[in-house]
Amino acid sequence: MTRLIARLVLAMLLLPLTGAVFLLLFTALIAQGTPPEPVSLAAMWIGVYAFIGVYWVALWRSMVRWTKRRTTMTWLMAPLSLGAGAVFGLCFLPMLPTSDPGPAFMLGGGLVPIVWVLATVLIWRETPEERIERLTVAGVDAICCPTCGYNMTGLREARCPECGAGYTLDQLVATQPDRDRTALRDA
Ligand SMILES: [Zn+2]
Repeated sequence: MTRLIARLVLAMLLLPLTGAVFLLLFTALIAQGTPPEPVSLAAMWIGVYAFIGVYWVALWRSMVRWTKRRTTMTWLMAPLSLGAGAVFGLCFLPMLPTSDPGPAFMLGGGLVPIVWVLATVLIWRETPEERIERLTVAGVDAICCPTCGYNMTGLREARCPECGAGYTLDQLVATQPDRDRTALRDA
């Protein structure tokens, strides 16, 4: 099993593990007998969020290129996803049959990690430029799609099978970064 496969398996385990953490904390809450207070529910969610944040960052940390922008955006998404969850929860409040805000807390609270994890996938994703640079640094003599970064080496036509963009050979060669143009011309 490669490290990437191991990571993907661990990534898939995030959901059941989060469910386990949630159940553990929630059971502890309702074991007190009375319906949980909003403050206790908020504390429970913070515990769940802490678990998800630490687990997810620890899992992918070494595979993400931590530019300043990525780090900032990742932190920024924490209050933003909290805000999204709060708005979502508040929207449900008037629809509830009783005055107990518990269900709204559950719905809003559950949305927060979904928004954050989805955002990290977009923020941490390698850009086409970074992909081309990584392949170049690795010594792979790759021809990459200038639009999406797909490795087009070995293809028989200058159309990217990933994003469908078509090029002339001249365009493809001209857009490859840090390539010794003379070497290409002589090849
Ligand atoms: Zn492409």
